[in-house]
Amino acid sequence: MVELKTDASIDAMHEAGQVVGRALAALRDAAGVGVSLLELDALAREVLREAGATSPFLGYRPSFAPAPFPAVLCASVNDAIVHGVPTGYRLRDGDLLSLDFGAELGGWVGDSATSLVVGRPRRADLRLIETAERALAAGIDAAVVGNRIGDIAHAVGSVCRAAGYGIPDGFGGHGVGRRMHEDPGVPNEGRPGRGLPLRHGMVLAIEPMLIADGTDGYHAAPDGWTLRTNGGARAAHVEHTVAITESGPRILTAR
Ligand code: MG
Ligand code: MG
Repeated sequence: MVELKTDASIDAMHEAGQVVGRALAALRDAAGVGVSLLELDALAREVLREAGATSPFLGYRPSFAPAPFPAVLCASVNDAIVHGVPTGYRLRDGDLLSLDFGAELGGWVGDSATSLVVGRPRRADLRLIETAERALAAGIDAAVVGNRIGDIAHAVGSVCRAAGYGIPDGFGGHGVGRRMHEDPGVPNEGRPGRGLPLRHGMVLAIEPMLIADGTDGYHAAPDGWTLRTNGGARAAHVEHTVAITESGPRILTAR
């Protein structure tokens, strides 16, 4: 069931979203050569604590997961697409890092992700990330009253495919509200004009995931959480929580 949020609830979700935006901005600044993923997780916990917020990631256990998620942050490096579990791994020059973070404040959740290169970037990685951001922007532009879910999916997928990138099948965006994952699902590829009509008060996480070599396959790492590309190609992941309003899409997790 898709829950429509009141304008007051959307304002409250924006408060939660701002915590997420602040955390990701701080994490981007902190993510340098030699910094460990656990140190980034600790920084993210500090942002939550200062804001009086809690983590919708910590202890999260969907049906596919072997164990509750042990961190407040997903940190996915290079061929890891999403759901990377923070470890003692220290970031190296040229690593492509995707950070996915959520906060719960006042009973509402914000969910957002960003990708960056640590140290000196490869040109191919910059193009991958830039395309992911363009796909996200296209998805947000399509998140307007009168469109349908398929219009968002088509907008995201078209940008990714036109650039020659793969799209992991079966993962995508979702409704956001009092829980991190609500209806409806928001696929990263689809047919325009199809699916649920978009209405004022719907809040969606739109989150393109791109695989550099154009393949769509992936597998779970031995930790049961981290999803990696099958061929070892690098991946990027970006996300915003967006409210659909009569006056246009409102990004609740802007940095
Ligand atoms: Mg997320
Ligand atoms: Mg999400």
